[in-house]
Amino acid sequence: MTFASGLSVDEPVRQENVRVRKANVANWVGLLAATAIFIAVGAGVLWGVQRFIADARHVAHTHEVIASVDAFEARLRDAESAQRGYLLTSQVDYLVAYRSNQAQLQPLLDRLQRLVADNPAQRARVQKMQQLEALREQQIHGNLERYRRGGLEEARSGIDEQVLVVSSQIRLVAQQLIAAERELLDLRDRSSQRSALSLRALALVGIPLGIVLLGLVYLRLWRETRWRARAERRNEEAANRLQQSLAESEGQRAGLAELTAYAGLLQNCISADEAVALTTRLLGRLLPGSGGTVYRIRASRDYAEQLAQWGRHVVDSQALVAPAECWALRRGQIHVNSADEYAARCAHLAPALPDNTGQLACIPLTAQGVQLGFIYISSTGPAVNARMALVHATADQLSMTLHTLSLQEKLRVQSIRDPLTGLFNRRYLEESLVRELARCQRRGLPFSVLMLDVDHFKRFNDTHGHPGGDALLAALGKLLQTQLRAEDIACRYGGEEFTVLLPEAGAEQASLRAEQLLQAIRALRVEHMGHELPAVTASIGIAVAGRDGAEHLLQRADQALYRAKQEGRDRVVVDGQVQASAAGPDGGCDR
Ligand code: GH3
Ligand code: MG
Ligand code: MG
Repeated sequence: MTFASGLSVDEPVRQENVRVRKANVANWVGLLAATAIFIAVGAGVLWGVQRFIADARHVAHTHEVIASVDAFEARLRDAESAQRGYLLTSQVDYLVAYRSNQAQLQPLLDRLQRLVADNPAQRARVQKMQQLEALREQQIHGNLERYRRGGLEEARSGIDEQVLVVSSQIRLVAQQLIAAERELLDLRDRSSQRSALSLRALALVGIPLGIVLLGLVYLRLWRETRWRARAERRNEEAANRLQQSLAESEGQRAGLAELTAYAGLLQNCISADEAVALTTRLLGRLLPGSGGTVYRIRASRDYAEQLAQWGRHVVDSQALVAPAECWALRRGQIHVNSADEYAARCAHLAPALPDNTGQLACIPLTAQGVQLGFIYISSTGPAVNARMALVHATADQLSMTLHTLSLQEKLRVQSIRDPLTGLFNRRYLEESLVRELARCQRRGLPFSVLMLDVDHFKRFNDTHGHPGGDALLAALGKLLQTQLRAEDIACRYGGEEFTVLLPEAGAEQASLRAEQLLQAIRALRVEHMGHELPAVTASIGIAVAGRDGAEHLLQRADQALYRAKQEGRDRVVVDGQVQASAAGPDGGCDR
């Protein structure tokens, strides 16, 4: 995958690989350098030890040469002095001693010859020594021969300067041999010292350098290990985040799919109840473990009432909510009811739980600036907050649908109005009667119907003409519209008969309303063609809903009206059955 800039997402991985390769090469170089240094130090030590062994051998050899020269000189001296002792004393012991010492001279010279075989200068000296020793031996033999022939005098005559010269030369060659060996000893001593110094320098520099290099490699490896551990942790965290966001986006995707399907269904809803039922099912699925209630503002705009509910609430809410009691309605935006005791909390909610764990939110239902109601949602988990965007979208869809349905309803209502009086026509009456009656019965509320008929209208028509009658009917229509509450439904049943549906009103309330109507009709003054028409009266029959259906309710209201006419008109009669079978909280009152 590549970005528009041309940078590959693999670039960081490539850079990381290059960095790791470089670090490995550096570590290997360090290790090899340290190994080479230690090998060099080891080889140096080995070389030094061998040098020391060789030097020691050479020193021993030199000492052996010197000792051999000394031994040769000593035997020669002993032989000479034994010979002299024999010449002076003629004792055979001296002669024996001479012979013993003299016999050792040649082996000593042979040994010396072997010892200096590798040194031509010394070898030459030993050869010279051998020649001189042979000469000296001849001299001594000559002396002994003369002594044997002529005694001491004869022997003394044979001793000349040559004896001294040969002896001196032997001493000189011996000293030269020893001096040369001492010189070699000095040379080897100096060479040993140089080796020792080199070895010490090698150890002093090489060992610390090797240790430092090893330390650096160790430090790098330690840092690398730590960095890798951290990188692994980061990778693990990133993988977790990725998994979480994948799960979230999967949830969002599934939610969006549901929302799309929901939007498609909403478009085909034909009633607000249907749209709200779809909404509660969707939100119940999108927010598992949550509870919710859809409220709709009534036509009178005084209260928002519960339309539908799903799940179980963490904190309950009132069935009827005044707009001032809900912050979402007051501000026109989502209000999250915080656990914080100082934060604004909607007054329609029950007191907070002691542990304050619930998440409570009110989402307004608004379309084109018109407040339609709100949705109250509560949950113990974080589901609501996490999916607030979906809830928001759902609320928007529902608002649009409710608004559209309400516009359609308005259009429909306009098509079912009676043009003369402005009141609803009979078809609408029949539809509304069934719906409103069912709504009140579902909620256990009373429901009443008024049937109103103008008294002696035929006569009025006859006196003031049909147009005059029409003017009165139009005025009565306006009067009914102004006298009644927004939720009451006034219809023109036919001719000069009117029907009024009074949801949530029992017999007493309906009677009171009917009396007020009659009073208003009595007081009604209508202008027609520049003349004021005379006042009229009307009769009203009331039926209060019991267990019977809409049809019987109208019949009972009609019967009550009939009784009102029969009892003298300009009065209200409540259907007698009410008291017997289904008297509301305020009961019924017959006249
Ligand atoms: P009661 O007190 O018993 O009701 O007497 P009533 O004269 O009013 O008798 P009824 O209710 O039978 O009279 C109905 C009359 O209403 C008959 C008809 O002339 C008149 N009417 C019906 N529709 C219209 C209308 O649209 N315009 C006018 N001007 N009159 C109508
Ligand atoms: Mg009539
Ligand atoms: Mg009449």
